[in-house]
Amino acid sequence: MVADVQFGPMRIHQDQLQVLLVFAKADSQCNGFRKACEKAKFKCTVAREPRAALDCFLDNLHDIVVIDHRNPRQIDAEALCRSIKSSKLSENTVIVGVVRRVNREDLSVRSFIAAGFTRRYTENPSIMACYNELLQLEFGEVRSQLKLRACNSVFTALEKSQDAIEITSENHVIQYVNPAFETTMGYQSGELIGKELAEVPINEKKADLLDRINSCIRIGKEWEGVYYAKNKNGDNIQQNVKIIPVVGQGGKIRHYVSIVCNGTSKTEEIHECVAPDSQTGGHMSNWKDRRKSSLDIRYAGSRTNEAYSERRHSSLARMHSMTMEAPITKAINIISAAQESSPMPVTEALDHVLEILRTTELYSPQFNAKDDDPHATDLVGGLMSDGLQRLPGTNYVLGTTTFQQGARSPATHSSLQDLPSRIAQAVEDEEHWDFDIFRLEAVTYNQPLVYLALKTYARFRICEFLNCSELTLRAWLEVIEANYHKDNPYHNSTHAADVLHATAYFLSRERVKEALDPVDEVAALIAATIHDVDHPGRTNAFLCNSGSELAILYNDIAVLESHHAALAFQLTVGDDKCNIFKNMERSQYRVLRQGIVDMVLATEMTKHFEHVNRFVTSVTQPLALLMENEEMGKDQEAISAMLKMPENRMLIKRMMIKCADVSNPCRALELCIKWAARISEEYFTQTDEEKQRNLPVVMPAFDRSTCSIPKAQISFIDYFITEMFDAWDAFLDLPDLMQHLDNNFKYWKGLDEMQLRTLRPPPKNPGKP
Ligand code: AMP
Ligand code: ZN
Repeated sequence: MVADVQFGPMRIHQDQLQVLLVFAKADSQCNGFRKACEKAKFKCTVAREPRAALDCFLDNLHDIVVIDHRNPRQIDAEALCRSIKSSKLSENTVIVGVVRRVNREDLSVRSFIAAGFTRRYTENPSIMACYNELLQLEFGEVRSQLKLRACNSVFTALEKSQDAIEITSENHVIQYVNPAFETTMGYQSGELIGKELAEVPINEKKADLLDRINSCIRIGKEWEGVYYAKNKNGDNIQQNVKIIPVVGQGGKIRHYVSIVCNGTSKTEEIHECVAPDSQTGGHMSNWKDRRKSSLDIRYAGSRTNEAYSERRHSSLARMHSMTMEAPITKAINIISAAQESSPMPVTEALDHVLEILRTTELYSPQFNAKDDDPHATDLVGGLMSDGLQRLPGTNYVLGTTTFQQGARSPATHSSLQDLPSRIAQAVEDEEHWDFDIFRLEAVTYNQPLVYLALKTYARFRICEFLNCSELTLRAWLEVIEANYHKDNPYHNSTHAADVLHATAYFLSRERVKEALDPVDEVAALIAATIHDVDHPGRTNAFLCNSGSELAILYNDIAVLESHHAALAFQLTVGDDKCNIFKNMERSQYRVLRQGIVDMVLATEMTKHFEHVNRFVTSVTQPLALLMENEEMGKDQEAISAMLKMPENRMLIKRMMIKCADVSNPCRALELCIKWAARISEEYFTQTDEEKQRNLPVVMPAFDRSTCSIPKAQISFIDYFITEMFDAWDAFLDLPDLMQHLDNNFKYWKGLDEMQLRTLRPPPKNPGKP
């Protein structure tokens, strides 16, 4: 009888089974087996004594040997069994000992097994009993032995492979290494086998990688990437490694096979993942991923140095220590899974997407500011860095600061009703975009914030929301305004009032009203009011470079913005007279406070692109899609729901305060020019001080003797304003602002073309700058 046996991916041909019967006499038991062999169509040979039996076995290598164990005086069965077993050729032979029925049943089989027997057969000459025994052996022991024999060929392949191969258990214990691995790593197999990966320096990082495999296997992948290992000499070796989890019983990973490809990078290879096979109870199935490898190929592309590997390792380690999946991990897994069934061009595009998603600064573009545009370079560098790279030789100056506890000029007007007419007139058109903040600055003797805020806060019924009196609000506004520096050319309370005005204007647009809740409106107005309080007229980079007290306090991270938010709350809650939050319910106060802090921190320019790009991806783009549907009469509800999502409301609020904060290029030309002059003057003063104190010059282009203000404004608009306001306009519809922006840009361009280095009045209004 011949049959084929499937062993994993291997098909093994099974020849007719050969049985050797060793019986001194042809008794009924011997005949029973002989006849049973005939019935089963096995080839049967009978030997009468041990010597002949051994010779016969060595000649034919029978699959089953049955030895008569009933009469030790005739045949010493255990000695014969040991002799057969001592030959290496008998490794896969099944040996059965026939014992007497009486007295033997309850004996332990231990000595039997020690002698090398596979099974004990209690005498029973019935042909059927013998036949059944042989059949059970054929489908059990013999077949298993056949498969084990085939393993020898697999091990031979491993031993001769030029790729270094290591097999570990699911617990990361090294079980096997091949000679190529020994050569590559400089260790003998004996030094490795039985040890945990982490115990051996070559593998100290691999345990992390193996954990990573667990997430790969869920989507049917092996891991491939570049891996840095230490050989026995301590040298770092860059290796192209494939790690393949081998799934065993119960669908669990039982082994990991690591193949170090000695040779060219194989990153373009096809990935294949094999499901649990027939050997372990599952059905034999391969699901083959006939496409360029995706998930892990990415590691190969950009990984040319050790630092990369270190970073990757530490992030993997961090990832594994988390019990819950981060959203980005989920997103990556979903995309990877989608790649499985995608056509090649989609798969390749998704590979690219995954590569981008794996970077950390997801929303921050990398700049290549043109060498020939120092204004752009300085603005990008000056506003978007902490200046630390220019730190050498800094003297840290720690000082003490006192803050204004109240109004510098006593409050003379207790409510909006008794405002002097010049102030009342100046705030009259506060609802319009073309409102003139500089006029209010003049008529209030540099207290525009208090008066504008009183009017605006009343319009938005802020006192009602906060449950505070107008008196408290006014006292609070006076404290806040008093803590803006009057002598800053730009970052004074007029700038805060300007930002408040823009914020209120945005809050009045339909789209924003639709999205935000009352608490968001209150947070936005308060955030705008306080967002630059106690600004010293210097940039974050300057404060870090000069080792200022604030930079030390906030660890050089978002120094000013942290200070504005923290100080505002200190001033507010530290004095009952001006504590506008004192009557609020705790939980609502927490929500409001969180909204305010988040918005103030959003004004930090290092995060500019992150905020803008997140807004575009999460708000404007989905909105555009939903609006296409809306034109067909659907989805108004979906739009509302999307806008009202807490995450989106937060992005809208951040974008709103950011746009308000730098809206000066979108103001009427006269106002825009004044703002440009003020910010330039502030930058010039900083450069003067940097030069004078021998500090790093953060923005060398902003040197009063050489700076081109038009060029600086063109760069500021190009880099920070255009894209952001395009997105904001797409969301809110702001034709007036965009018209001003176009005009102003043209104005600066015109000046630049005339190569003017100083400000000129606008063409329409020559007498007024
Ligand atoms: P903030 O300090 O909160 O007002 O953040 C806005 C940033 O944009 C500040 O660093 C300003 O210096 C900068 N900025 C605002 N307007 C202009 C402008 N017209 N030109 C150049 N920089 C500006
Ligand atoms: Zn500001």
